[in-house]
Amino acid sequence: MRRRLAAAVLLAAGLGASAAPAGAAAADLPDATVKARQHVFGLANVAADGSLPRGKVLLSWITVSTFAAALDGHVVLLDGYVHKVEDRPNYVPTTAREVEALRPEAVFIGHGHFDHAKYAGRIAARTGAVVVGTPEHCAGARAEAGAAADRVRCAATVPEGAPVGARAHRIDVLGDGVEVSALKHVHSAAEAPDGEQHESVLGHGPLPDLPSLLLHPPGPSVLPGLDPSGDEGGTMLYRFRIGAFSLVWHDSSGPLRERGAKVVEALKAMPPTDVQVGAVLGFGELTNGVRDPVDYLVALRPKVFVPNHHDFITEYGTGRAFEPAVKAELAKRGPSSTEFRWLADPRDYLKTERLTFDLASDRWLDASDAPRLQLTRRCAGGRLRVELRGDVDAVRDVRFTLGRRQVARDTAAPFRQTIARPALSRSASRRLRAVVDLREGRGERTVPARSRPRC
Ligand SMILES: [Zn+2]
Ligand SMILES: [Zn+2]
Repeated sequence: MRRRLAAAVLLAAGLGASAAPAGAAAADLPDATVKARQHVFGLANVAADGSLPRGKVLLSWITVSTFAAALDGHVVLLDGYVHKVEDRPNYVPTTAREVEALRPEAVFIGHGHFDHAKYAGRIAARTGAVVVGTPEHCAGARAEAGAAADRVRCAATVPEGAPVGARAHRIDVLGDGVEVSALKHVHSAAEAPDGEQHESVLGHGPLPDLPSLLLHPPGPSVLPGLDPSGDEGGTMLYRFRIGAFSLVWHDSSGPLRERGAKVVEALKAMPPTDVQVGAVLGFGELTNGVRDPVDYLVALRPKVFVPNHHDFITEYGTGRAFEPAVKAELAKRGPSSTEFRWLADPRDYLKTERLTFDLASDRWLDASDAPRLQLTRRCAGGRLRVELRGDVDAVRDVRFTLGRRQVARDTAAPFRQTIARPALSRSASRRLRAVVDLREGRGERTVPARSRPRC
């Protein structure tokens, strides 16, 4: 009972669990874990004790939208599914058992459909990995773990039933070095054709009968008591920030034009994205081609784009038709400098070479990374109204100062304060500044007012 209560509190607080992460105790890892990590991440990337390198991000494509990731040494799973559900390596060169043996610290759930979340509960129960997702995803993982449900620890991102556009600015699961945030977005869906003649994979190449396959939703859901045609328990996009490097992963791409105006705003307001790993296959293909995946790409403008989900239901390499379609659709939207690192199944399963990113690379440093901020001021009845404007999404704390004296503080947008006359008269200095603490460990910035306050 006590344990359940603790788990509930943990969930409600949206905080990570307190048990030692698997990655922290590399010296104690069993042989099976060392071997699994060598197979999934590549022999050269894994130390003799099973630890993964600091200073790098490695992604290993398991299947569909599931990746094993090593984030500056932290081993995690993005989704928890292994396609074909076989008990020995075959077309898919790994198994659920081997993925479980990786001993991830956390399993991030994009959404609850079986082809994304099927093994999350089992992996969490057996390894102690924290399930990160919506409360609905957590409930699904616990249901899936069956008798071991009590052992599934969860970190909630947004409240149950949260609206599309809801955000979790800081999910504390991987310590200070890896900042994690999340955005509730939209599952793929077929809206009516918008008449803009978007690029499509339909009718190109040796595809299976895509429309008929897509019309049968990728259910059943792993969520109990919900419509098996696929209530996914919310669809989450995750952003990982390690130093100057940022990674965005999403396992579905929904019709944002019809259902996600707030999502578009949020994506555009995010600090620049270095690597985006995005779903390119979805129900929207039926009516508006690859419009929706490309809308995500255009909003995020990543330096590198990596596709996912194009191996299911279009497998045996037929998903390669998505590459020219996505590129042509992107080209219609204007110039783009995004580099594509296309993946083909089964060739690129478990291949980390093309998905290895050096955190120290100059490529991730970007002058445009600095948020544009402006401090405005005006007088009203002898009092001073100050406001920090611009890319305030990147801000988590603002101290307004006159000279060396702090006159006001704000920890949530809008960063707008009124400073009363006594505070103004106490300060000999008339230099008004905002000392801004940026999110995601990007440090402190001082934003001066353009003119001196006189009231
Ligand atoms: Zn789905
Ligand atoms: Zn799916």
